[in-house]
Amino acid sequence: MRYKNLLFDVDNTLLDFHDAQQQALNALFNELGVPLTSENEALYKTMNQNRWREHEKGNLTSDEVVNGRFGPFFEQLGKKVDSVKTEQKYRQFLNQGHKRIENSLEIIRDLSTKADLYVVTNGLANTQLQRLTDAGLFPYFKDIFISEQAGFQKPMVEFFDYVFAKVPHLQKEKTVIIGDSLTSDIQGGKNAGIDTIWFNPAASTIDVRIKPTFQISRLEDIYDILAS
Ligand SMILES: [Mg+2]
Repeated sequence: MRYKNLLFDVDNTLLDFHDAQQQALNALFNELGVPLTSENEALYKTMNQNRWREHEKGNLTSDEVVNGRFGPFFEQLGKKVDSVKTEQKYRQFLNQGHKRIENSLEIIRDLSTKADLYVVTNGLANTQLQRLTDAGLFPYFKDIFISEQAGFQKPMVEFFDYVFAKVPHLQKEKTVIIGDSLTSDIQGGKNAGIDTIWFNPAASTIDVRIKPTFQISRLEDIYDILAS
């Protein structure tokens, strides 16, 4: 095996976050009696993405991202809600979303017999742990690193320092990160001085400033890289 330590992102790499988010938004809007139009949905997704980008830059904690988002958002739609209480409702729905991406369970189960697997994810601990457990993925990882617990997030080098400090005998040249996000996973890997595999199923255009070591369009293409 070319790499001994495989660091996996979770959302839209192993688990389908779009699906989880869709279900949770449907349920939340339904409960609040607000129609989930495509406009409202696009508005929410843009606002939410911007907040997580600010988290990547270190301007918002994960707690601030989620607990501050719904009040201002629903205010735009003319409805007053409490941000924290609405987040709690939404999170109960979101925690249930654990649809897997492609054949991620089979791949992770198999790879766990060949290398040491770790999770590296930006998000909230309870949510990520529940979703990984419900999806059957949890037992195959040696350890799970979540930004909320680390106190730092991808792509910050401090997040990876935290990870490396907890992985015994880590050799950077034998370590690779696999994820769908150029700004958090690939930039993070570059900041940390490890190789990167960009999972890019939608064949998005590459950002010339953030060039991954490898690019794959299907998860199982990982095998070609590991064998090379
Ligand atoms: Mg992701």
